[in-house]
Amino acid sequence: MFEKVLIANRGEIALRIHRACHEMGIQTVAVHSTADADAMHVRLADESVCIGPPPSKSSYLNIPAILTAASITGADAIHPGIGFMSENANFAEMVEQHGFTFIGPTPEHIRIMGDKVTAKKTVKDLGLPTVPGSDGGIATVEEAKSVAEDIGYPVLIKAAAGGGGKGMKVARDAAGLPEAYQLARSEAMAAFGNDEVYMEKYLEKPRHIEVQLLGDMHGNAVHFGERDCSIQRRHQKVIEEAPSPGLNATEREQIGALAADVIRRLGYRGVGTIEFLYENGRFYFIEMNTRLQIEHTISEMITGVDLVREQIRVAAGLPLTYKQEDIVFNGHSIECRINAENPETFTPSPGQIQGYHPPGGLDVRVDSALYDGYRVPPHYDSMIAKLIVHGTNRNECLLRLRRALEEFHIGGIDTTLPLHRTLIAQPDFINGDYDIHWLEKYLARK
Ligand code: ADP
Repeated sequence: MFEKVLIANRGEIALRIHRACHEMGIQTVAVHSTADADAMHVRLADESVCIGPPPSKSSYLNIPAILTAASITGADAIHPGIGFMSENANFAEMVEQHGFTFIGPTPEHIRIMGDKVTAKKTVKDLGLPTVPGSDGGIATVEEAKSVAEDIGYPVLIKAAAGGGGKGMKVARDAAGLPEAYQLARSEAMAAFGNDEVYMEKYLEKPRHIEVQLLGDMHGNAVHFGERDCSIQRRHQKVIEEAPSPGLNATEREQIGALAADVIRRLGYRGVGTIEFLYENGRFYFIEMNTRLQIEHTISEMITGVDLVREQIRVAAGLPLTYKQEDIVFNGHSIECRINAENPETFTPSPGQIQGYHPPGGLDVRVDSALYDGYRVPPHYDSMIAKLIVHGTNRNECLLRLRRALEEFHIGGIDTTLPLHRTLIAQPDFINGDYDIHWLEKYLARK
């Protein structure tokens, strides 16, 4: 097992990884920008190294600085966390070339899944259902038109290099297609430096269902059930729950087994998630994330498995400690992502925390790097806390969530806590009756 792991990230996820390491007896190295010198992930780590000025490209995305920090502290392995370097195949390759272990899949698997056109083709060949659409990239407006006529409007133009919902545009009819096509291309170029786009049928009322997976280097793979992440704003998840209120037991078992079989056949190592849209009883693959996900927590709550520990064990070459039948599902879990944003306008609200009281009690978990007096810097993602609750069933979980949200106090800055309090009180949410467009429609009505 590793003796020392460098955590190439910040905020709550850096803490989450630190916690798993310390429970395993592994020392941790934090890296940080000058804006994060007082951050909790720096305070709790055994050692820390400043890797550059506040902008991410000069610090958390600065490969030479991260590798140097690993060298001078004598780390054995690097955990990339979520975002930043976590899906950068070149980084994974350089980490290994410099003699460290990358806590994640092989660079080849990151590369295949990072290009969504290649990813779709790969999983389709392995038997996963995909959204009807173009076979590959689309090079001209004429080609876009002809594919759209084949599959039928509305259609969605998506960036091959996509992520975070960027470079995605809907065309409702042939008249709207040229503009959607051009906008998707230019947005993809600006966000990813790659303007390749592809086309999918735009599904009108799907749920976002994803399966948590874990594979090792010895040919084993298991799944930890599904998460429903349909409550989204601008294609970004806001609330997640497990299990999904929209699936029955047979569908759950089938999609889990199918997804686990795909990563087993790929020889995939580490944690990963296969994401689907689900409509009228059918699943459609949309992408695979080759890393830990923010919402891994709710799968942990219903299975009792520490997914980060398993991820680290697999990276160290150990076989899985779980067979599929050892993974027992227990109760229900919901996560609210709390952002430092105005809850009505969603304008970022960095600044100093004045008064902080996280909720507690049975089955309440808060993953956050906040503390009273901490200054939320303006340079990074606005998510500042995850509130995760568990209950023996969905109703108990909802009651506990309501109580925990009432207790949660974050003073000094605007947060999305008030939004969460109203969302979970909506009859549609309480009934589990929502799809990926529900939140946007709700916000537009308000
Ligand atoms: P990204 O990599 O940018 O996150 P995804 O392919 O995972 O892109 O899609 C993000 C979200 O966009 C999905 O959760 C869903 O809400 C929406 N979406 C993606 N593909 C479709 C589709 N074919 N029809 C309708 N909505 C879609």
